[in-house]
Amino acid sequence: MMYYPPSIRDLIKNITRLPGIGEKTAERLALHILHAPREQAQALAQSIMALKDNIRRCKRCFGLSDTEVCRICSNPKRDGARLCVVELPADMISIEKSGAFFGVYHILDGALSPMDGVGPDDIRIRELVRRVAAEKIEEVVVATNTSVEGEATATYIYQRLKDTGVKVTRIASGIPMGGDLKYVDQLTIKRALDSRHAI
Ligand SMILES: [Zn+2]
Repeated sequence: MMYYPPSIRDLIKNITRLPGIGEKTAERLALHILHAPREQAQALAQSIMALKDNIRRCKRCFGLSDTEVCRICSNPKRDGARLCVVELPADMISIEKSGAFFGVYHILDGALSPMDGVGPDDIRIRELVRRVAAEKIEEVVVATNTSVEGEATATYIYQRLKDTGVKVTRIASGIPMGGDLKYVDQLTIKRALDSRHAI
């Protein structure tokens, strides 16, 4: 590292902050950028800043979006009667990739974890209850992770919604216990969704 001039050293240092990237890889990427055409480096820098400037949360589902309402929520072909509840935006992307779900989403931004001080008011439960009351939703598919926190969240959601008359289902078998949705393969997600059951 110390053999490099400061500009290269800084870039290496910043790239190393990315997950899963060690110093060797960072060095290789920094040198690649150094030798790449100026436009390529500029495009990389610009797309990073555009991401920071443009990406916000959809005001309806809290998914990632460039616009106020995301393209899933604003797509008339999606089934607004089926609402899939997930912990994080990345989980929603995993389900979308599986191609098994045609409804809309609700992102909680976490899961209940009393041990870590995360209660219902710290995740978007209130917004979920509000949506169920305001929108024409027939089924809430709870697709939180199969971790202890994810299961506790699913149970809590069921408790909160059970008197609303809306059907609450849970994604089924196939997702291993402790499973994190974003690492589960698409076929498994599709099977888990297809065989969801009432809580
Ligand atoms: Zn949305």
